[in-house]
Amino acid sequence: MPHPHRRAVLGAGLGLMAAATARADALVVRVDDARLETLIDPAAELRTLVRDGRWCEGPCWAPALGGLVFSDTKANRIRVLAADGAVRTFRDPADNSNGNALDGQGRLVTCEHRTRRVVRREPDGALTVLADSYGGRPLNSPNDAVLGPDGAIWFTDPVFGITQPEEGILAEPAQAARRVYRIAAPGAVQAMTEAVDQPNGLAFAPDGRRLYVSDSGAALNPEGARAILAFPVAADGALGPPATFAEIEAGVPDGLKVDAAGRVYAACVDGVRIFLPDGTRLGRIATPTAAANLAFGGSDGRRLFITAAGNVHAFDLRG
Ligand code: MG
Repeated sequence: MPHPHRRAVLGAGLGLMAAATARADALVVRVDDARLETLIDPAAELRTLVRDGRWCEGPCWAPALGGLVFSDTKANRIRVLAADGAVRTFRDPADNSNGNALDGQGRLVTCEHRTRRVVRREPDGALTVLADSYGGRPLNSPNDAVLGPDGAIWFTDPVFGITQPEEGILAEPAQAARRVYRIAAPGAVQAMTEAVDQPNGLAFAPDGRRLYVSDSGAALNPEGARAILAFPVAADGALGPPATFAEIEAGVPDGLKVDAAGRVYAACVDGVRIFLPDGTRLGRIATPTAAANLAFGGSDGRRLFITAAGNVHAFDLRG
C-alpha cells in the first residue's frame, strides 16, 4: 500500500501533468519549421464564427455577395457570413453544394452533388450550367473548383456525392474515371487528367505553372491515396505527369489553397497544414474537428477562414 504522503505527492504531480497537457492541447499552432513564424503568430487564436452548420464546405470570400459564402452541404444550403458576424441564407435548397469559387468576372461558381453539375450564378441570381456531363454521360459529383491562370474554371469530380446519402443522391458512377476537368465554355468540358484516384481540393501555384490536387482515395479505400499531388502545367495548359508533393499520414487531404508566396494550405483531419513550395512542412493550424476546406479573406486578405464539420473558424495570419 503506498504511503499516504507519497500518494498525495503523486496525485499533485499528475495534476500538474494534466494541466500542462491541457495547455498544450489548447495551442492551436503547431510549428514544424521556424519559418512558419514569419506567417503566423504561434500564440494566435482560432475563433469560431459559425457553429450551427451540419457539414460546412466551399468557403469563398465574396465581398460583393456580402462576405464569406460557404456551403452547408448536408443541410443543403449556401449561407453568407458577414463582417459583423451575422449569417444569412444565400441559397436554399442548394443541391447539396460543395466547393465554391469566383470566376474572372466575380461570379460565384458552385459545385453541386445532387445535380452532379457545376453552375455559375449570374448577377440576377439565375444559374447557368457550366458542366453536367462528359462524353455524353453524367459527371460523378463535382467537388471543388478554382479559377485557372488561363481564366477558365477547373474542377474535380470524385464520387463522394454519389456514395454518401447525406451529401447527394446515391448512384453508380457513369464515368470510367475520376478526373480533373477544365471548362472551356459553358457545356464544353475538357478532361485534364485521370491520374488521381479521388481528386478533391485543387489550387494553382501563383505563376500558374503548377496545379496541386488532393487525392482523397483513402476515404473510400484503406489502401487508397492520402496525398497532395503536384502537376506541371505546360504553356498550352496541358498537365504533365504528377509528382507526390505531400503524403498525409492520417485522414485524407481535402480543400487546398495557395498564397501569394506559393505556400500550400491543405485542409486535413487534424487542421490546416501549411507547406513551402518545395514540400517542407511548416506546421499546422489545429482544428477541433476535421478541416474540410479553407479560404483567404477579410479586408486585407490575411484572414484564413476554415470550414470544419459544422463550424466556420477564422484565424488571422500575420500582416
Ligand atoms: Mg472537397
